[in-house]
Amino acid sequence: MEQQFRVVKRSVDARQKQLKVHLTVLTDEHGAPLPKDAPIPLYEPPQFQDVHNTEHSVAIIGAGPAGLFAALTLLEHGIKPIIFERGKEVAERKKDIATLNRNQGLNAESNYCFGEGGAGTFSDGKLFSRSKKRGNMQRVMELFHHFGGDDRLLYEAHAHIGSDKLPTIIRRMRECILEHGGEIHFSTCVTSLSSFALSPNSPVILAIGHSAHDTYHMLHANGVALATKGFAMGVRAEHPQALINKLMYHDPSPELIRLVGNASYSLVTQVQGRGVYSFCMCPGGHIVPAGSALNSCVVNGMSASHRNSPYANSGMVVEIRPEDLIDQDPLAGLRFQQQLEYLSYQHGGEPSIAPAQRLRDFVEGRKSSTLPACSYLPGVRSSSMHEWLPEHIGKRLQQGFRDFDRKYHGFLTNEAVILGVESRSSSAIRLPRDPETLQSISTPHLYPCGEGAGYAGGITSSALDGINAALKIAEQL
Ligand SMILES: Cc1cc2nc3c(=O)[nH]c(=O)nc-3n(C[C@H](O)[C@H](O)[C@H](O)COP(=O)(O)OP(=O)(O)OC[C@H]3O[C@@H](n4cnc5c(N)ncnc54)[C@H](O)[C@@H]3O)c2cc1C
Repeated sequence: MEQQFRVVKRSVDARQKQLKVHLTVLTDEHGAPLPKDAPIPLYEPPQFQDVHNTEHSVAIIGAGPAGLFAALTLLEHGIKPIIFERGKEVAERKKDIATLNRNQGLNAESNYCFGEGGAGTFSDGKLFSRSKKRGNMQRVMELFHHFGGDDRLLYEAHAHIGSDKLPTIIRRMRECILEHGGEIHFSTCVTSLSSFALSPNSPVILAIGHSAHDTYHMLHANGVALATKGFAMGVRAEHPQALINKLMYHDPSPELIRLVGNASYSLVTQVQGRGVYSFCMCPGGHIVPAGSALNSCVVNGMSASHRNSPYANSGMVVEIRPEDLIDQDPLAGLRFQQQLEYLSYQHGGEPSIAPAQRLRDFVEGRKSSTLPACSYLPGVRSSSMHEWLPEHIGKRLQQGFRDFDRKYHGFLTNEAVILGVESRSSSAIRLPRDPETLQSISTPHLYPCGEGAGYAGGITSSALDGINAALKIAEQL
């Protein structure tokens, strides 16, 4: 009989020709592996308290991973979360995203970035973070598992949920918050801080993500400290997944792919003093229109839980430092993002057609006379991206792709296509905060957190940052 053991860690190592799967399993005191159904709890389940009649409440602006995990943590401490979210609840949001994918227009308040669950809901759902320092990542995984994520979240080194499963998990989080007495106000964009008391008994968690440019302007006008920070911009590249499997797994059999899943990659090089790297790689995924403003074209990637589309996409971005920008004020990075997103829109087409070029044509500076099939649903238009991308991005990307081809020969191919632009890979702004209290350095009792505050990047670290803000408030109330 086939035995199944309690796996506590699993990772796939594809660095050598011989692919390795590393497993760590629980054993008994004699070193014998414990069966999968051994009666040991997977983790301490969360204990949410009823806060219908509680004395303390905390306002949270934004229902992305940072805001939702902050709310859940407040509930664990008997504090009532009151969430304000500019977008719609997840089921309604799905309809706006379907319209966007049919190229029938963008709803600027309900899209891939705005709405219940934030940018995390229709994301790829890769749940890992390069940072190990910011606290208890395992707790984030446990909460995702508690609300319906599968067991692999608890042991996979590179755990992944998928955009088909995330909406249900996010809905269950909302139901939990409401059942226990929290409040969520959808379609409620916070346009001023003046309605909040911002006192020791009325703190505000600011978890707005990094796409709400209007909200950054509002914060600036309300005297909240903002600072420049480095970020990254570039394009999204898409290859046939079969080619990536061949390059990464060295001619794998279909059985091997079934066992370990479609291959991913992580590439990095230095060109003229700046990093050029792959970002948010989505094996078996789709490229999606991820803008939140009209007259702009922004792309990103996602995949469903089975990761089984015939395409492999990834952001390919160039590091941008504040000194690379013409202006030096805190909003300069946002303006640069907007300019590039507008250029991309002009070279694509109404309303969400993306500019596109075959990869080798881009590197060799040629217009593509035809384009390969591609996963981006609204449609693509051939564009000479080497001509209009700013030189410090375009030239570095061209060299970066040559470098990547030296490592994985065949990566630089005209079977691959690039789409413009990948401009929201990280926040272009920071809301400086006191490292001890986590409050804004300018505005007491305001807790900027998550990706929009510039202290996190990705679902896991944003969720963790939200947890940390809530814990700090619970300590102080
Ligand atoms: C297509 C796509 C794929 C991605 N894939 C991955 C992935 O695989 N793995 C990963 O780790 N990360 C991924 N990301 C990034 C990840 O989603 C973000 O890093 C993460 O969601 C940031 O969390 P957050 O809570 O800080 O902000 P957000 O998720 O951006 O949430 C902020 C929320 O605040 C709301 N808001 C903004 N301004 C206001 C206002 N004034 N009033 C009220 N509400 C407001 C917004 O509507 C939004 O819902 C992806 C992103 C996209 C777009």
